[in-house]
Amino acid sequence: MLVVDKGRGVGGRLATRRIGDGVFDHGAQFFTSAEPEFDTEVATWVDAGVAAQWFDTRLEPDGSLVTDGHPRWRGTNGMSGIAKHLAASLDVRTGCRLVSLAVDNGAWTAVDSDDGVIRAESIVVTAPVPQTLALFDAGAVGLDANDRRDLDAVDYHPCIAVLALLDGPSGLPTPGALRPAGEPLDWVADNQMKGISPVPALTVHAGTATSRALWDASDDVVVEQLLAAVPGLASGPIAGGVQVQRWLYARPVECRPEAARLLFGLPAAVLAGDAFGGARVPGAAASGNAAAALLL
Ligand SMILES: Cc1cc2nc3c(=O)[nH]c(=O)nc-3n(C[C@H](O)[C@H](O)[C@H](O)COP(=O)(O)OP(=O)(O)OC[C@H]3O[C@@H](n4cnc5c(N)ncnc54)[C@H](O)[C@@H]3O)c2cc1C
Repeated sequence: MLVVDKGRGVGGRLATRRIGDGVFDHGAQFFTSAEPEFDTEVATWVDAGVAAQWFDTRLEPDGSLVTDGHPRWRGTNGMSGIAKHLAASLDVRTGCRLVSLAVDNGAWTAVDSDDGVIRAESIVVTAPVPQTLALFDAGAVGLDANDRRDLDAVDYHPCIAVLALLDGPSGLPTPGALRPAGEPLDWVADNQMKGISPVPALTVHAGTATSRALWDASDDVVVEQLLAAVPGLASGPIAGGVQVQRWLYARPVECRPEAARLLFGLPAAVLAGDAFGGARVPGAAASGNAAAALLL
């Protein structure tokens, strides 16, 4: 089995980035677990030292905390560390951006951006669905009409993230996160308080409407508007220590009911990821398991 990923590292939206001495989770911020199968998986990550509890309260939009006892998990060294742990025993080719998937003599042919060709009897594709469809279209794959209709309808919310090294403590309340859960901000986190950054490092996520409104704005405008909206921010950004990430496919608007999808009338091809069965990290993990079961 071969895993290819266009990213420089593995993880996709389990994304951790460094700016100077700062460490930032800029995609998924934490995950919860409500399924015994995922609980068991998370326990192995905790044993391996790659995941730890961050907090176990609900963050209300007004900044208050409501104890509910459900662990919110983080990567010990950032969220991407969990993906690195999972990938350690796999044959992974990073920096490999596929540009087409085609059917040829009853098998799959994947072509990457360096014209490399990979042949496979079966494939699991976990890219966001519009990107997956673009790969099939580039390879002139004729999808079954039901598959095409259902997959064309899968849509995602965008999210703009601002990452800022700060010149002092952020002033965020314990546990180092605010969940305004609206506009202009959806989420703010202090990665130092989270335990992954040695220096003050702030992640700010815009809400969906704000992300759409600011999508084509310059990074300077985005940074100014989003940082100005952080309630009670006690320090300012360090010059040269700020970056903007635009996630076009941050979260599915609605998930497909099936946990993974075997495409009809083609060599074995299963689509999986957070658009299937359940959004977010636990949904993506469950979808991966469902994809494996379908293929087997
Ligand atoms: C800003 C933001 C905040 C979030 N917050 C949370 C949160 O707090 N809690 C939570 O549970 N979830 C959160 N999520 C959602 C969570 O990150 C996702 O649900 C989950 O990580 C999706 O995993 P996946 O494997 O389905 O997709 P991805 O992680 O997107 O993986 C798809 C992979 O496909 C690769 N790929 C795509 N196209 C190609 C190509 N052409 N060639 C090769 N490789 C390709 C990508 O590089 C990527 O690694 C958040 C997401 C974002 C963006």
